[in-house]
Amino acid sequence: MIYLDHNATTPIRPEVLDAMLPFLQEQYGNPSSVYALGQASRRALEEARAETARLIGAASPDEIVFTSCGSESDVFAVMGAAYEAFESSGGVKNQIITTSIEHEAIISCARLLKRRGFETLFLPVDGQAAVSAGAVEEALSERTALVSVMHANNEVGTIQAVEPMARRCRERGVLFHTDAVQSVGKIPVNVEKMGVSLLSLSGHKLNAPKGVGALYVRRGARLQPLITGNYEKFRRGGTLNVASIVGLGAACRLIRTEGERHAQEWARMRERLVEGILAEVPDSHLSGDPVNCLPNTVHFCLEGIDGHNLVVALDMKGAAVSSGAACSSGAAEPSHVLKAMGISSDWVRGALRISLGWGNQPQEIEAFLKMLPPAVDKLRAANRISR
Ligand code: PLP
Repeated sequence: MIYLDHNATTPIRPEVLDAMLPFLQEQYGNPSSVYALGQASRRALEEARAETARLIGAASPDEIVFTSCGSESDVFAVMGAAYEAFESSGGVKNQIITTSIEHEAIISCARLLKRRGFETLFLPVDGQAAVSAGAVEEALSERTALVSVMHANNEVGTIQAVEPMARRCRERGVLFHTDAVQSVGKIPVNVEKMGVSLLSLSGHKLNAPKGVGALYVRRGARLQPLITGNYEKFRRGGTLNVASIVGLGAACRLIRTEGERHAQEWARMRERLVEGILAEVPDSHLSGDPVNCLPNTVHFCLEGIDGHNLVVALDMKGAAVSSGAACSSGAAEPSHVLKAMGISSDWVRGALRISLGWGNQPQEIEAFLKMLPPAVDKLRAANRISR
């Protein structure tokens, strides 16, 4: 099988699994226990925290809070910041600013806060899915509790210029969160350079296991915990998933040493895919920002087909791709991201996302480029007959 859906999830790298295995077997101590078995888990946990901090350029490992996934990190950032700002300002700060192309974790949180009396603003994007820093600045007010703008979009791959947005928020004393679940491991991410207060990442998008994530919380940024308890310095309760956290640390270490090389390889394969699809598939439109985009992500809208049918047809030929976000594929709803970009519903239906990752080889791209055009032709011909 040619796996081209790394924005949905990634395989665990063997080095990551090797690092994890002792903590699923003989090293089962609770990191809070004082005896040697527990302290071995504690040491491994703190090493993983330091690796995670190092990868994203955090000033201190203490700024990393481990969570169960990227969604939890997002919800913790938004709800935790909103409630804390609201309470500490005596109810003055009751506004959340985010965008119309965020992951469902953020969008559903913003909607929940709206039902609870917060004002929530969903900033628009342009035709390439870019949010304007000026729009963020204009929306800021004395009432803003938090601004959350994703670093890179999971569907079309557009990278946002978060630095100027974060700077303006800092000048106004407002916390700025970025969902970097899709960017960490694919492009350089440095929280100091970006100037963000909060940043989410997820293990299974970067060759670590599913069910582990982290939230970077800049020193001084105050959040209310979602899960109360005396762990993670009172920021998140619950006994930690030591093996998966060790896996996350190992994956972060590999990215630090190999990430740039992989990104260059993906960028070359991405270029070949774009060129091949534009040449061989008529009525195809490249979506997103062609320059400010993830090196691993290619998104096309293909006229006159249903993206879900194309995914099934390609699966039968041995290639795994997607027609949208992993969390919503299966549902027949058109992508909120493509709609926000102003793409017409005819084209939105024919969405095709190809996302590269560790292990992909140029010959797989060539094989995929041979299977795609006949699959599209066949679906278009079938559609013409049924009309
Ligand atoms: N944010 C973005 C941009 C994502 O793409 C995803 C997953 O697809 C998430 C958050 C959620 O991450 P997780 O699957 O770890 O909950």
